[in-house]
Amino acid sequence: MNIKILSRSANLYSTNALVQAAVKRKHNVQVIDPLNCDIVIEKQKPEIYYRGKKLDHVDAVIPRIGSSTTFYGTAVVRQFEMMNVFTTLKSQALLQSRDKLRSLQILSKAGLGLPKTVFTNYSKNVSEVISHVGGAPLIIKLLEGTQGLGVVLAETKTAAESVLDAFNGLQARVIVQEFISEAKGADIRVLVVDGEVVGAMKRQGKAGEFRSNLHRGGTATVIKLSREEEQAAIYAAKALKMGVAGVDLLQSNRGPLILEVNSSPGLEGIEKATGKDIAKTIIRYIERSL
Ligand code: ADP
Ligand code: MG
Repeated sequence: MNIKILSRSANLYSTNALVQAAVKRKHNVQVIDPLNCDIVIEKQKPEIYYRGKKLDHVDAVIPRIGSSTTFYGTAVVRQFEMMNVFTTLKSQALLQSRDKLRSLQILSKAGLGLPKTVFTNYSKNVSEVISHVGGAPLIIKLLEGTQGLGVVLAETKTAAESVLDAFNGLQARVIVQEFISEAKGADIRVLVVDGEVVGAMKRQGKAGEFRSNLHRGGTATVIKLSREEEQAAIYAAKALKMGVAGVDLLQSNRGPLILEVNSSPGLEGIEKATGKDIAKTIIRYIERSL
């Protein structure tokens, strides 16, 4: 098969792991930088040129689109869809996943457990927003933040008010969320491929840190999921229509709560923690789908 990985660099761990897995399964694989793709739109003849050369006979693409290139990356994935090329991540699902608010709305409609969340249009009534989530301590999150940057824990009502005022003043869109203290600075990352859990790890933030992101110095260990956690992760990926998803869960007193679902989940942490070849499961998913 002819597989293209849409990624800014072949040197990234996840991109490289996917290349190795594809080669091992005897596929023809190439990493292409979506920013170097030209999209040609004409009546019934969608085309993509990569560094001036027309891309022909592509069977499947694996989008690994970073949050800084969402707009153009999505357009390239959509163009592959127009060319009837299989993609492990649909353009619609990619776009949706980059909007925390929209994703939470869809997950809530699907009946999944979530931390109680409020979004307001720069409300002047900060106090009311705070009471909606049961008061402080609470979490304030930039709508389009990633890797733990833009997530703030406000311990008191006064702190929450001043942070909200500051974000409002900067016209930064935020969500306000109930703080799940019983998660104790840990969360669970579940890799779901084609409706199945293929790996799970517990991430623990470093001492004194409520954010468990590996980018913030968290550590990962393999974990066996409860039936409820497994089901929640599978439903979340399904609700957001993702063939490959990194579902983040918090363990709360009322069961698993979905924090977010990543559409280009990193493979390094999860492969190292679980010892599993997750890249291979993604390539096998493509093989089954064509
Ligand atoms: P990002 O997209 O930046 O990773 P997240 O929403 O995943 O943002 O938050 C980063 C981390 O902060 C999570 O992995 C979790 O450890 C912690 N966290 C986020 N929201 C909550 C919450 N409501 N209660 C407790 N911890 C949270
Ligand atoms: Mg996260």
